[in-house]
Amino acid sequence: MWYFVSPEIVFGEGALDALDELEGRRALIVTDATLVGLGLVDKVKAHLDRAGIEVHVFDAVEPNPSVQTVRQGAQVAQEIEPDWVIGLGGGSPMDAAKAIWVLYERPDLHPAEINPIVSLGLRQKARLIAIPTTSGTGSEATFGIVLTDTEEQRKMGLGSRESIPDIAIVDPVMAMGMPPQLTADTGLDALVHAVEGYTSSWHTDLADGMCFNAARLVFEYLPRAMADGSDLEARERMHNAAACAGLGFSNSLTSMAHSMGHALGAVFHVPHGRAVAIFLPYTIEFCAREAPERFADLAGLLGCSQAGGEEAARMLARSVRDLCCEIGNPTSVAEAGVEREAYEAQLDKLVDDAFNDTSMMAVARAPSYEELRQLFLYAYEGQPVDF
Ligand SMILES: [Zn+2]
Repeated sequence: MWYFVSPEIVFGEGALDALDELEGRRALIVTDATLVGLGLVDKVKAHLDRAGIEVHVFDAVEPNPSVQTVRQGAQVAQEIEPDWVIGLGGGSPMDAAKAIWVLYERPDLHPAEINPIVSLGLRQKARLIAIPTTSGTGSEATFGIVLTDTEEQRKMGLGSRESIPDIAIVDPVMAMGMPPQLTADTGLDALVHAVEGYTSSWHTDLADGMCFNAARLVFEYLPRAMADGSDLEARERMHNAAACAGLGFSNSLTSMAHSMGHALGAVFHVPHGRAVAIFLPYTIEFCAREAPERFADLAGLLGCSQAGGEEAARMLARSVRDLCCEIGNPTSVAEAGVEREAYEAQLDKLVDDAFNDTSMMAVARAPSYEELRQLFLYAYEGQPVDF
């Protein structure tokens, strides 16, 4: 038995207008100070004003939000008692909004208890809206919540089917101002979600179409969005791609590139999308030898190779590297600026954390501890995987 969960998704230019019709008394917008400065919070507030909804803003979300921050946000929610919580921003504010909303509904919970096994009984006090301002994490369409345990330098993957937003507003206008590097990093994250969602051993018939289409859109429109940030069509298609990939991977699972990327990001602060995109080709090559089928299938659909088998899977890895190169992103950990000595000193922790990451549950070819260590080393050097 499988589930496919999704918010109601309003998408395309003008999607923000849907907020004008919202019914409620009070909203808490969860965001960061940069987005307030860019005027994006005011843009949303103007729509909520038209709906007659009183707005409060919690703008203290940092990149990779911590447990402390979401507890603080939940405290604000307890005080103002909103009936809507709105996550506005990239993955960090949207994930923080989900956690703040859950803890507002269930103050008795510890964040680690936000998992698929515990019945949360949400939506007694408020409902949740997500409005992405980047095109990549897909958090607007997923129930996943990534928080960082700052003491242990470790990311925690949380979430339950109940923590899916009620409404996602996917308006490309909110992503038009993204600078090129953010466009690249987040766009690649969407690609990795799509490829991993399609190839994880938990892939399903319903998620497959979302993942394939998202990958197709990223290969076609990310270079265009990078070449000209004011290309509205490219921005819109990338914004849709991110939501599609979110629906896809959230209803299957991400895989080894995410496990490795989470580990690297927590220690060396390489941005999430950049980190997972570095690792994706190595993990594809690793799986290609023993479990190439799904990768070859996707490579065929995307037009990377019609060869089938291991060769097609390797061509898919190559296409991902080519895309990274084309948009100026690194294809190895060394190119991402991580010093060799520091990397080697942290290698045991990286391997441990990746090995224990929840995304490791559904890999097409499960690595041994030693193989995972080798993968980290190959990815540092930029050496294609041959074992
Ligand atoms: Zn991701």
